[in-house]
Amino acid sequence: MNFEPKSAFMTTPCARTAIVTGASRGIGRAIALALGAQRFNVVINYHSSAAAAQEVAQAIVQAGGAAETVQADVGHLADHEKIVAAARDRFGAVHLLVNNAGVAPKVRADLLELSEAGFDQVLDTNLKGTFFLTQRVARFMIEQAPPPESRRPPESAQGGVALSGGDGRAIINIASISAYTASLNRGEYCMAKAGIGMMTQLFAARLAAHGINVYEIRPGIIATDMTSGQAVKAKYDKLILEGDLLPIRRWGRPEDVAQAVVAVAQGLLPYSTGQVLDVDGGFHIRRL
Ligand code: NAP
Repeated sequence: MNFEPKSAFMTTPCARTAIVTGASRGIGRAIALALGAQRFNVVINYHSSAAAAQEVAQAIVQAGGAAETVQADVGHLADHEKIVAAARDRFGAVHLLVNNAGVAPKVRADLLELSEAGFDQVLDTNLKGTFFLTQRVARFMIEQAPPPESRRPPESAQGGVALSGGDGRAIINIASISAYTASLNRGEYCMAKAGIGMMTQLFAARLAAHGINVYEIRPGIIATDMTSGQAVKAKYDKLILEGDLLPIRRWGRPEDVAQAVVAVAQGLLPYSTGQVLDVDGGFHIRRL
């Protein structure tokens, strides 16, 4: 198994553990740092940026937290065990999963030219891999803490009935405004993010009986490597800074998304599940 050698970053482990996928750069990095500051043990998953992931872990440790890095391709189902094992073996449990890893299309092709390879490249990571990782982590979370008798659904209930609120454990899916915004040159990305919307509803309904709430965060246009290409940046600069695209007239920052994650991680939304949190400068507001 291609398991990270001694990447364990040492300080005293804390009571709660989060897995953040795609945490080496951009939004995932900001989420990992923010959760570390909240005294979560953080499992930092990355795909190819090992040095960047180590740097995130070091920053968490220097701030007094605990972190573990794990290389794994979210789109490759055989890698998922490495992610769960990193949390289980080092910290013993998982309280929060943040499904952040995602890719943009390699080629922005018109919908009528979209290739099967391009479709698979995006869907494999952004939807299929994310679904099966969530399934696997959810099973592990349930094994760790089966529902108490008071919350156990009747034998006959299909999929479970929520008799209580969340017990502080949660899953957060980083989707996008692309879940409902049609971009004709990256249809595969939009379809994957729309799929994350239904995935959120499904797991929210299924896991409530186990005290696990599920949330979807829809970032708007956030300044990261994903949006730093010259043409893309120029397009968004024009729309945001010169045009009227956003009520809040600035680019989003990775930290804006991390703040929403922290609100969930702190348990501030215990009676909400399947909830969408828009972190988009007001992009979603229809205006006339
Ligand atoms: P980014 O800067 O390109 O960073 C992507 C992160 O995901 C990196 O840490 C990368 O790891 C990791 N990753 C990519 N493929 C992976 C895989 N197969 N397995 C594991 N990790 C993988 O992207 P970002 O802008 O921060 O985006 C993060 C999430 O927010 C994505 O789901 C994206 O769709 C979503 N989002 C972004 C924006 C935006 O404007 N930026 C807007 C809405 C939604 P390596 O560094 O190792 O490659």
